[in-house]
Amino acid sequence: MSQGSSEPVLGFRQLGLSPDRLKALANVNYEVPSSIQSAFIPEALTGRDCIGQARTGTGKTAAFCLPILELIDEDEPHVQALVLTPTRELSAQVAAECEKLAFTRPVKFACCVGGKTIQRQIDDIRRGAQIVIGTPGRIIDLLTRRVLSLDGLKIVVLDEADRMLDIGFRPDIEKILRRCPTERQTLLLSATLPGPVERLAHRYMRDPLRIDVSANQVVVETVDQYYVSVDGDRKLSTLARLLYQERPRQAIVFCRTKRGADALHNRMSKKLPGVAAIHGDLAQNVRDRVMKQFREGKVRLLIATDVVGRGIDVTSVSHIINYDVPEYCDDYVHRIGRTGRLSGEAGFAFTFVTREEGEQLTNIEIRINKLLPQYQFDGYESCRRPPAKPAVAPPAQVSATEPDEAEEWAAV
Ligand code: AMP
Repeated sequence: MSQGSSEPVLGFRQLGLSPDRLKALANVNYEVPSSIQSAFIPEALTGRDCIGQARTGTGKTAAFCLPILELIDEDEPHVQALVLTPTRELSAQVAAECEKLAFTRPVKFACCVGGKTIQRQIDDIRRGAQIVIGTPGRIIDLLTRRVLSLDGLKIVVLDEADRMLDIGFRPDIEKILRRCPTERQTLLLSATLPGPVERLAHRYMRDPLRIDVSANQVVVETVDQYYVSVDGDRKLSTLARLLYQERPRQAIVFCRTKRGADALHNRMSKKLPGVAAIHGDLAQNVRDRVMKQFREGKVRLLIATDVVGRGIDVTSVSHIINYDVPEYCDDYVHRIGRTGRLSGEAGFAFTFVTREEGEQLTNIEIRINKLLPQYQFDGYESCRRPPAKPAVAPPAQVSATEPDEAEEWAAV
């Protein structure tokens, strides 16, 4: 695979976009292309296969939506571009971004995800959808029903390919790719390129150009990150104290399991208004409602699991709290990518680490190539026992009494 340049180009005007797209960009106030956009768009516009290594939050969606909008023919009423995403929420976000960037262009879309009635999606496709965005399971369903035909497809995009493979979509993705014409352009976006993603690319892409802007650490550098040493039985009171001290505008609290997220939601919603949970076991209409409320600011604290949480794109998220240390280091990067967005606003990330989880913290530090400082509370001990790893400052005095949470919750 050849290497692409990741040097940013000056402005959108230099990327080879049409005057209509430039107007659409002006309309959404995107003034300067992000690194992935500068590097990816001109290459994708040539029609060649490209692998973009970039995280969510770096503007990767527009990096592939703009070339799609340039390359499809609006006079051909059949499916010309297919975007596969790992989650329903991400599909919805991609569809929204693509529609925004289509601006005055009369392009037809279909967003095809599970958990929604299929009939509306069938209608959208039959009405001549040119861009189909969806999750692999539902796309297979539509192919099997012979509603969706990929015969006239020009571009296929695998968005967040690493996550799609992580959650077991490999057989579905391969089935879909085998149904696409050989003469097509394949674009693959992924935060990381582990072996399975490389193998998928090798098998289904033609001499792809690799564009890696992940080293720019666009997101990570704009996030102040700390770890919080905590006793397992003090996590909830520590969360209360952290919220009290930090006063987040909006926060996502990540849990490792759906059950854990539900349990935390039950406990927190008794103490605070504006708390909601989102995870893969909830019905799609509930997930949609929660996301809408979060976007509107009615929900201030969103408790999420990784699979669903990683697709969340809400620019006002100021704090990420890893209530459970992430199982995989890549999840850490994805979780904190929910804040410190392109807007350049500061974001904060806190990772709760129990004494037994010191090794996981070290692995994260190796992954991000950065030592996390320990968060210090004013007059509160989050752990009675020695912390997960020695703090730079001497550990706080151990208190024998459980701190009184009531005051914190009342003030959050
Ligand atoms: P993404 O990485 O695609 O999820 O994008 C993250 C956020 O940045 C989204 O809210 C986009 O609307 C926004 N965005 C994308 N490109 C730009 C840009 N060039 N300038 C400003 N905002 C952007």
